[in-house]
Amino acid sequence: MSKKIKIPLLVLIVLILVVVIGYHPVKPTRLVYTLPPSELPEKSWDEILNSSPLIDQFKVLNTGSVKVPLSGMLNTDKLSETHDLKEFLWVDVFVFLFHHTDRGWFMIDTGLDSTFQEDGNIKGFLATNFIIESKQQKSQNIAAQLKRENKDVKGIFFTHLHGDHTAGLPELNSSIPKYIGKGEEYLDIPLLYHANHLTSNSQLIELDWSQGIDKLPFSRVIDIFGDGSILGVHTPGHSTSHLSYLLMTSDGPKLLTGDASHTRYGFINNIEPGWVDDQLSAENSLAQLVEFHEMFPNVEVIYGHQR
Ligand SMILES: [Zn+2]
Repeated sequence: MSKKIKIPLLVLIVLILVVVIGYHPVKPTRLVYTLPPSELPEKSWDEILNSSPLIDQFKVLNTGSVKVPLSGMLNTDKLSETHDLKEFLWVDVFVFLFHHTDRGWFMIDTGLDSTFQEDGNIKGFLATNFIIESKQQKSQNIAAQLKRENKDVKGIFFTHLHGDHTAGLPELNSSIPKYIGKGEEYLDIPLLYHANHLTSNSQLIELDWSQGIDKLPFSRVIDIFGDGSILGVHTPGHSTSHLSYLLMTSDGPKLLTGDASHTRYGFINNIEPGWVDDQLSAENSLAQLVEFHEMFPNVEVIYGHQR
C-alpha cells in the first residue's frame, strides 16, 4: 500500500473511531415501577377531585429564566398574523415541590443548577438553538432553594427529560429516585447537544402509562401512589412520553401541564408547542388538557414555563 493511500485511510479510521466513541449515547438504566392497585376506575372525576387531599403542601420554586425562540414555545403556523409576540421569549424554569402526608416530600422536575448564573450546563453546537441565554440570581438555583427549604426529597417525578427539566440534577443527590414516563427518551449527543445531567450509571424508574386507565378527556391516567393523590397524565407530543400531573392538594386540585403547554398563551389559544417529537400527538394532548380545564374550570392550571 502506498503512503498516499495509507494516510487518508488512517484519517478515516480515526474519524470512524471518533464517531463511534464520541457518539456513544448516554443510556441510563431503566427500572419498572409497579403501579399499586387503584380505585380510579370506579370513581368519577368529581369524586377524585373532591376527595380529602393527601398533599398538604405545594410550592412552586422558580430556579431562573431562559431566553428561548417563540417558534419553540408555540407552533407559529397557528398564530394569527396580527399577534404581538416577540421572536424570543424569556420564560421561567420551575420545580414543583409537594408534601404527601404519609410519603414525605417530592419534586416535579429539577429546574436549573447554579451554572445558569453564567452559561449553563448544556453544551454543544446545537445547544444555543434551544436556550439562547439564561438569568439566575445568586441562590436561586435548585440546590440552594432546597437547602433553604430544608426538605428531604424522596423522589423526583419528571414531566420529561429535556435539558431544561433535568439541568438541576448535577447539584442534587444522585441517589434520589427519578421517575419518568415509560419510554421517555434522553437526548445527549456529544459535540452537538451534551450535558452532564444523567450518565449511563443513572437509574430511571419508568411509570407505565399504558397500564393506566382511559378517563375522559384523558386517554391514559395512572394513579401513581394508588391513593388518588398524584395522577400522571400521558400527554405525548412535545416529547416521546411526556407526563402532565394532576395533584390533589389541600389548596385544591392542580393540573401541571408540563411542556404539553409551555405558556398560558398556547393553552388559551389552543396552540401546541413548536418543538415537538410528534405534532399530532402534541395537538391531541393539548386538546385533552384544554377539555379537562373546560370541564373543571376550578382546577388551577399551571403551565410548563409561565405563571
Ligand atoms: Zn421545558
